[in-house]
Amino acid sequence: MDRPRFVIEASEAESMAKQSDLSLLQLLPTLVKSAQSLARAPISNFYVGAVGLGSSGRIFFGANLEFPGLPLHHSVHAEQFLITNLTLNAESNLKYVAVSDAPCGHCRQFFQEIRHAPDIKILVTGDNKDAKNGNLKEFESLSHFLPHRFGPNDLLEKDAPLVLEPHNNQLSLISNSISKIPNGISVSVSDDLKSAALEAANKSHAPYSNCPSGVALMDSQGKIFRGSYTESAAYNPSLGPVQAAIVAFMVGGGGGGAECGYDKIVAGVLVEKEGAVVSQEHTARLLLQVISPKCEFKVFHCGS
Ligand SMILES: [Zn+2]
Repeated sequence: MDRPRFVIEASEAESMAKQSDLSLLQLLPTLVKSAQSLARAPISNFYVGAVGLGSSGRIFFGANLEFPGLPLHHSVHAEQFLITNLTLNAESNLKYVAVSDAPCGHCRQFFQEIRHAPDIKILVTGDNKDAKNGNLKEFESLSHFLPHRFGPNDLLEKDAPLVLEPHNNQLSLISNSISKIPNGISVSVSDDLKSAALEAANKSHAPYSNCPSGVALMDSQGKIFRGSYTESAAYNPSLGPVQAAIVAFMVGGGGGGAECGYDKIVAGVLVEKEGAVVSQEHTARLLLQVISPKCEFKVFHCGS
């Protein structure tokens, strides 16, 4: 079975559009159903797909993820998946989004972390049954969906890096935490996992709490996937580092199979600041324990 696709390169997107006699913008809504098929929503059975066009001309997919056995706030919304996918692929801006259902308030707020977010154009295709949310025939600006907004400008300096912009939190591992090499994982693998988690923490967008963090997951084939914690100015829509790493696991074909389960995740490392006022440790451990009970989980501390 072919691996599901999460990114379409710019040249291929152009030729796909040409073949179907569509513009690039007209192509986006035609891909929403493929994005929906990537969703893992065993609680709601409501499959949301989001397709985004970046400034590089690449097309990115996002879908919703739900985790049975855990409270709903652990879920990943399709738009959050999409933005994480852009981050993983170093896309510098998001211009257009076609999405199967109207973005919820949580996602409208999450988009605010992108510079010039009000200019992002959104088209709601309404592919889900019983969609009652005013499906749109034309793209509308995010400012139409969220006219009176609270966002980074209310809390940060104007030049502070936002989501999709380069971050370097200049963190390094604290030496006494490095000595705690996990049992059961070979030293070289755990070193790789630790440095991957540190790299993810260095790219974390956590300007509100100043508690950046990162997670690295390893699958049964030894492949590593990084996820950076991403905060929202409104706090609750923030996306945890494990969720971001699960997005990376899916985008990167973790476990090797198209429908690969999370139980193929065999090891996870979290890097965060010692004594962080916003700590991911307990929630990260819980989430991994539920989705992959045999996964070995370790925490290492960093400082700046
Ligand atoms: Zn949402």
